[in-house]
Amino acid sequence: MLARASSAASRVRASVSGTRAFRSSAAPALAAKAPLANPADLSPLKQFFYGRLDGPALFPFPSALSADEREAATALAEPVGKFFADKVNSAQIDWDHKIPEEVMQGLRDLGLFGLQIEERHGGLGLSNTEYARIVEELVTDPSIAVTLMAHQSIGLKGILMFGTEEQKAKYLPKLASGEHMASFCLTEPGAGSDAAGITTRAVPADDGSGDWLLSGGKMWISNGGWADVFTVFAQTPQPDGKDKMTAFVVEKAFGGITPGKPEEKLGIKASNTVTLNFDETRVPAANVLGEVGGGFKVAMGILNNGRFGLGAGTGAGMRWMATAILEHCATRKQFGRPLASFGLVKADLAFMAESAYAAEAMAYTTTALIDNGHPDASLEAAACKVFGSEAMWDVVNRCISLMGGLGFADGPDAPPFSRMMRDSRILSIFEGENRVLRLLIALQGVRGPGASLSAVAKNPLGHTSELPALVADRLYGLGLESVAASLAGSGPGASVATSSAAPALKGAAQELAALVSAHGTTVRSALTRHGKNIIEEQQQLERLANNAIDLFASAAVLSRASTAHANKSSTAEHEILIARSFAAKAATRIRARAGDIMSKPASDADTIAIADGMLKHGGYVPAHPLTL
Ligand SMILES: Cc1cc2nc3c(=O)[nH]c(=O)nc-3n(C[C@H](O)[C@H](O)[C@H](O)COP(=O)(O)OP(=O)(O)OC[C@H]3O[C@@H](n4cnc5c(N)ncnc54)[C@H](O)[C@@H]3O)c2cc1C
Repeated sequence: MLARASSAASRVRASVSGTRAFRSSAAPALAAKAPLANPADLSPLKQFFYGRLDGPALFPFPSALSADEREAATALAEPVGKFFADKVNSAQIDWDHKIPEEVMQGLRDLGLFGLQIEERHGGLGLSNTEYARIVEELVTDPSIAVTLMAHQSIGLKGILMFGTEEQKAKYLPKLASGEHMASFCLTEPGAGSDAAGITTRAVPADDGSGDWLLSGGKMWISNGGWADVFTVFAQTPQPDGKDKMTAFVVEKAFGGITPGKPEEKLGIKASNTVTLNFDETRVPAANVLGEVGGGFKVAMGILNNGRFGLGAGTGAGMRWMATAILEHCATRKQFGRPLASFGLVKADLAFMAESAYAAEAMAYTTTALIDNGHPDASLEAAACKVFGSEAMWDVVNRCISLMGGLGFADGPDAPPFSRMMRDSRILSIFEGENRVLRLLIALQGVRGPGASLSAVAKNPLGHTSELPALVADRLYGLGLESVAASLAGSGPGASVATSSAAPALKGAAQELAALVSAHGTTVRSALTRHGKNIIEEQQQLERLANNAIDLFASAAVLSRASTAHANKSSTAEHEILIARSFAAKAATRIRARAGDIMSKPASDADTIAIADGMLKHGGYVPAHPLTL
């Protein structure tokens, strides 16, 4: 088993974010009576929606680990990397759709089933930062990574976050050793993104035992066919006659649980994904996780908390692919020259480096926020997952293109990219499909400013702190952007960002501060224009979310490279190049989207009308060109 050398186990652990699904939270958030949040208490990404750059939280590059602990985390990761390099034949595992038992045993022996379980329960007690570092070592085999992450990032996380001492003592030791496996059972045939719509139901047994009888069907459950312990979400009757969701810890041994046969999937073929049917499974009252009726909070707490892990994994995956493709680009010759000598190929390589760098920077900024005790980094974690999964897809696509015909080869002896393409496609789908996460980011983000604007509208003189921003909005409207930016500012923390930036990145940091300030303006503009109907303006919400993600990514890369420079890292010069290039491209994207948010392009309505026409027609509408 890995031996922990750091004392980070005592750090702040997973925290319940309190974030609710966009569906249920958005409307009250925009109502005039919603309480005004103190923006300075919010996480950095939420502050962007107020136009505030939380410099002290983001600059210099944040860490929850001391230098010794960072070294220890690296030392902890080394044997895992070696195990994957020496003992895991991922191409064969993919081809066979099976993880060999000796590999599973090796994972258990390394302690990889109990990474974040407290040491007193037999785990390694890793902080979120240390967990992310280990996850990086798993990514060469996504089937194994998904198996281990479904077990602990979601499967047993509820017991860690919400479990009673008795539940922890009973379940965690065997889950930590890998003797038992865990799975997370939320999705159903009729309820995926809309998790609140589940119909699995638990009712009190009528024998006075206090037990619950759980019935219903779940689908797409990772590890479902292998698990001994399930975190299951079900509707439960409430005194007012309405159902509310409750979370349960369910043992396979309780009976009445029937797994379907393993699903045939596009990728992660050696991971286990099944339907699960519960037929009057008898669950003791002691196995309620959290409070009766508090299951939605448990589900969102688990999911919101774990998404940074996918971000860290994608960062490592992109780094691995960028290195793997390099030799081919350097040695393969066409037109008498190595591929790597062509500008477009160089652009692909640079894109891979920038994407990996940003995903890593975002992931470790997020873990530092959580480990340092920030009560809610849910939007940062969602941004890690959205950015990382889509960048990874783009990177693997470019690798396949750069391999030419060989990129299309598949099988145990083929280059790894076709397998990685199949395996990485799931990343944008599970743990919250990216569209839904973008809506979550945007609607949670506008929540505070929405309430604030409503209050100002009701009583302008009572909220003088809002007035400079509102005057600035008018100046933007008149084309006086620079005056507006200096009036609205980007919060007192912006100067920390610009003063911490490396000399070569000062301009980029100043631009970031201006873009953050402008984001506050675009948010207020969108809220003023759309009011509560912004919930239905999904194209606008997507732009707002994308800008927030790009702002977070830019802040993370600028901070990371500046800290590398300040620490005289041997790679600092190259990192500054990456950061400057990434931030410049992100700034171009942000400005274009901000313009669209302010003006709301006419093409938005056309877009909706085209889809409506298709729906009405029952398919693609235009006449064939040869009929013209
Ligand atoms: C391999 C695999 C493993 C999985 N493991 C687990 C697991 O261990 N436990 C578990 O509980 N679940 C698991 N899932 C389920 C996964 O989390 C869901 O598939 C995912 O949440 C999407 O739900 P859905 O499939 O019902 O799609 P839907 O919710 O039907 O969504 C379909 C599309 O519609 C979009 N959409 C939905 N609502 C809106 C909206 N309001 N506005 C705009 N667009 C919208 C979505 O973004 C998506 O693009 C797994 C899935 C897979 C494929």
